[in-house]
Amino acid sequence: MGIEAVNSRIADIQSRMIAMQTQQATATRTASAASGTSAPAGSFATALADAMGTQSSAGVAKSYSLNSKGIPTELVGYGNGKIPANALEKVGNTNHKLWAPAAESLNRMISDAKAQGVTIGITDSYRSFDEQVDVARRKGLYSQGGLAAKPGTSEHGWGMATDLDLNNKAQAWVRANGEKYGFVENTPREPWHWAYKPKSV
Ligand SMILES: [Zn+2]
Repeated sequence: MGIEAVNSRIADIQSRMIAMQTQQATATRTASAASGTSAPAGSFATALADAMGTQSSAGVAKSYSLNSKGIPTELVGYGNGKIPANALEKVGNTNHKLWAPAAESLNRMISDAKAQGVTIGITDSYRSFDEQVDVARRKGLYSQGGLAAKPGTSEHGWGMATDLDLNNKAQAWVRANGEKYGFVENTPREPWHWAYKPKSV
């Protein structure tokens, strides 16, 4: 890792620590209000381990509050293709963004694959509503034999799907391992499209 990468990693970890501390403070206030105690919701060690991308939660994938269609309830109110930047997170050093937990999981998947000599590239991720309109115009609607979802319905519009650039080896690797990271191949004719399907609480 070069010094720039290390610095950027440190900055990333610091920003996540701040986010965790904010969350923790909120959770603590909520817990205090509910029970009169002030037990913290998490620990520094847990937060640090999370930020480092290690298997802090005993290797178990985190669970999220999802609606009946599997969309995180924290995103539903924004609307498909209208997710604000602060609910999205960059994938690695790319300009691609996903719902933050999906981005973190994809980052782990890409780095674990890399450690095994498998290269996973990324060609697409979050798509705003306008971008979905553009893709539908260029690639045609899936329902009509094309490759685009009806604008406003794409999994990409929730930041919950990514299109990966996979050679044969990488395709096989993601098919064998993707589910461990929450990514499933759910669209016939689109072996590059991987949807993030976290566990529901
Ligand atoms: Zn896709």
